[in-house]
Parts: sequence; C-alpha cells; structure tokens
Amino acid sequence: MPQSQRVFVPSTVDLEAFQRELKALREQLDASLGEADAAHLRKIERWGRLATLLGVATCWLAPNPLSAAALSLGRSTRWLLMHHVGHRGYDRVPGVPDSRTSRGFARGRRRFLDWLDWMLPEAWVFEHNVLHHSHTGEEADPDLLERNAEGKLRGTPQPLALRYLLLALLALTWRASYYAPETLSALRRKGRRDGSGLSRAEVWELVTRCYAPYAAFYFVLFPALFLPLGLWAAFSALCNSVLADVLTSLHTFLVVGPNHTGEDLYRFDAPPKSRGARYVQQVVGSANYRTGGDLNDFAHLWLNYQIEHHLWPDLPMLKYREVQPKVRALCEKYGVPYVQESVWTRVRKMVDIVVGKASMRRLAPDALSGDAGAHRPEVQAPGGELGGMGAEEPA
Ligand SMILES: [Zn+2]
Repeated sequence: MPQSQRVFVPSTVDLEAFQRELKALREQLDASLGEADAAHLRKIERWGRLATLLGVATCWLAPNPLSAAALSLGRSTRWLLMHHVGHRGYDRVPGVPDSRTSRGFARGRRRFLDWLDWMLPEAWVFEHNVLHHSHTGEEADPDLLERNAEGKLRGTPQPLALRYLLLALLALTWRASYYAPETLSALRRKGRRDGSGLSRAEVWELVTRCYAPYAAFYFVLFPALFLPLGLWAAFSALCNSVLADVLTSLHTFLVVGPNHTGEDLYRFDAPPKSRGARYVQQVVGSANYRTGGDLNDFAHLWLNYQIEHHLWPDLPMLKYREVQPKVRALCEKYGVPYVQESVWTRVRKMVDIVVGKASMRRLAPDALSGDAGAHRPEVQAPGGELGGMGAEEPA
C-alpha cells in the first residue's frame, strides 16, 4: 500500500529495529566516503563560481534579470556549501583541505572569502546546526514556522490579501530582515526565547557585523569596481547586485521554508524519549522535494533531501542522493510516513500554514513508545567556534 494511504500509528513502529537498520545504513555510508565526495564538492563549488563569473562579466552592461540571477545563484551556492561543510559533512572525507571542513570554512576572516552573507556564520551555525537540528519541530526549534507566524500572519484579523503580501515581502528580504537578527539573538542568548526584541548591544552588532560588511561589499565595493567602465556600468552593477540579493532571498525562502511545514507534517509537544523516536520524529517532521541528478539537486540547493539530512546532518551531499531510496524503503517497511512532493506543492502547503488556512499535525508526548532513557544530542555552548557547533548527529 502506498505510504500516503497508510495510517500512521506511532505506537506500532518498532523503534529499536528502525534505529538498528538506519545505523547499519549509516555505517555503509561512512565506509564509502572517498574521493568521489571530494570531487563532487569541488564540482558544485565550481558551478557556483561559474554562475558568479557569468554575472560579473555581464552585470555592467545594463540592469537585467539574467545577470542578477547568475550573481544570485553564485551567492546561494555559498550558503549551500556553508550548510554542508558547516555540518561537518566533509570533515572525514579523505583529501578535502581544511578550508573545506568545519574547522576552516568561513571561520574568522575566511567569512569574507567563503560565505559573506547578512548573517554571522557562527550565529547561523548555532541557530541551525545546534538549535534547529536538535529540536526539530519542538517548541525550542527557532524555525518552527507555524508558531513563529502566530499573531503576525496567522490567527490575526488582517485581510488574507494583506497577509499574503506581508509573506511575499518577507520572502524577498528574509535573510536580512529575519534570519540575521534571529540567528544573532539565538547565539547571544544561547537559544533562550524570551520574546523580547534585540538589545542595544545586539542591534549594534547586527548593524556593524552583519549589515555593514554585506552592504559595503555588495552594494558599494562591487559596483565601484566597474567605475573605470563608466557611471552607467557601475549603476548597472549596483542594480544587478541588489536584484541578486532579492533573488537569493526568494530562492532560499522557497526551498528552506517548506522543509518542515505543512498540514501533513508533524510538530512535537515533547522531545523524543529514545534514539529510535528521535529518528521517527525527524522523518515525520520533514519533507523532501524531487530528488536525483546534480542539476535538479543544485536547483533545490540540496534541501530536497531534508529527511535524510535530518537523520544524518553530517554527510556529504552526494551521499544523500545515494541513500535516499534506501531510507524511503525503510520508512515504508516500518510504517513511518515519508513525505516527498514537488517544491511548489510544498510551498503552497507552507503558505497555508503561515496564513492560518491549515494547521500542522501534533504528535502527543507519549505517542512513540521507545527504549528507556531520553536521548538528546548534546547542545554545545556557543563559543564563537564554528568547528565545535555541529554536534547534532544522533549516532
Ligand atoms: Zn541542516
């Protein structure tokens, strides 16, 4: 019977056996780490560089969407690399240089070489790798969209059209308007959510360490490089760079936002009580998009393997593609719902949740019976060190 038609009865899932089979899969993956993973990383990075090069070579001619899209894809690729490298995906791959491991990538001044975005790399790594991955779908998850939208776009008396408009504005700006302040406050408050706004010190840090470097590089220095070609060239480069920023926000919003949001996905009233339960929660709280092929996966910024990524955040990109059909088959075998749909369908389902037209499923605290002893991966204190903050792998 297809997954979608099977009723999910959490208490009937054999958590220990599910965990055992996943562990065996993981061991196979670890044993096969090799040059193919390193070469694949280099290839994807090259694709991003080529996109940037195309944008740089043409952006001074006139403001135009193609140059902006090329520049944007180059920027999105840096985030894609940050995601997997920051998760320690390449730390154990033979032949990968230190600069492409969590020990080197975007650390310190390498931020300006590897991943210059609105967010501080160490803030994003803490918010994402530690908080989001350790508490997916729980109250402590900073990215729980249904909860975050409550009172703003969901459950408010505003007309629906206005809520759609506000959501569109968020999608076009969210790296700067939402993610930069959120990740910074998560880092500085060590994940505590007290609902208060940024303090003066946090606002100062946001402006000087997040907004100023990004704006100075992309909106001042970058266009100024084209001044020798004339004012029009510099103006065109500026327009294309601003449009590239908007496109990067839109692109990333469309692939990041729906990963854990939809009426067919679960959120959780309590942390998992066992490792097996944790695996199940990661699966039923995540959605995949269409998978397979470098072009397709690159277009989705590798967020189309979200289920596998949440089982094992520290794998190289290539491994997700390899293991995806096996994970899906295991979920079918154990009666664990495995959601995989086109990104556009998932965007629609996300929007319905955000504006309050639909609600997510809830998994009651004791729905998954499991082996004794709570399991939660250690949440490490933020210390400004990128390399020490990716510990979310449930082992
Ligand atoms: Zn991740």
